[in-house]
Amino acid sequence: MQQRLYYLSDETECDSAIVSSGEQDGRFFAILAATLFHPQGGGQLADGGWIDDCKVLSVESLGEAILHVTERLLPPGPVRLRVDADKRALHSRLHSAGHLIGTVGIDLGLRPDKAQHWPEASRVVFRMEETAPPEAGEWEDKVNHIVAQNLPRQCGIQDGARMVGFGRLPAFPCGGTHVRSLADIGRIRILSVKTKKDTVTVNYDIL
Ligand SMILES: [Zn+2]
Repeated sequence: MQQRLYYLSDETECDSAIVSSGEQDGRFFAILAATLFHPQGGGQLADGGWIDDCKVLSVESLGEAILHVTERLLPPGPVRLRVDADKRALHSRLHSAGHLIGTVGIDLGLRPDKAQHWPEASRVVFRMEETAPPEAGEWEDKVNHIVAQNLPRQCGIQDGARMVGFGRLPAFPCGGTHVRSLADIGRIRILSVKTKKDTVTVNYDIL
């Protein structure tokens, strides 16, 4: 199994090795001994970047394997990985903001159902039982109040699952990338809170 270095490291460059590569359906792919690239999944988009000087077009999970779809066919052997640091930082900020919205929702008596932390299309969806959710402005105050506490990220393994939280806040099982401490998120903007039957969708962005 490939080592998922991004679970434990915020580095965006390292040495690795291609253990296998090939072509399928007109796309070239490489599998690495260890990778810094976060694949698309868990509500987070894939990292971009380069393997040596070859652009990584997408990063996909295939069972336990991570496929790096590359611009051209790369032979097995040692390589240098470079993750697009700006794109990674944006994804980590959006994703971490999603955690805080989840935390606020739980405090309000809602149950987090699913989430998507994509640039310009970020949202957290909750199931609602009895309590009607507050307006966007109240959510925004609550989440930014937590951001201002600048709590540090905490990662751990619990019952085989990677758990990620901030300070004393509840941790969530999560395979994504996150900011080191909450102030790195910046300001969270709650764009809308939409209620439909028993679901509440909180659309958000970061400034
Ligand atoms: Zn997460």
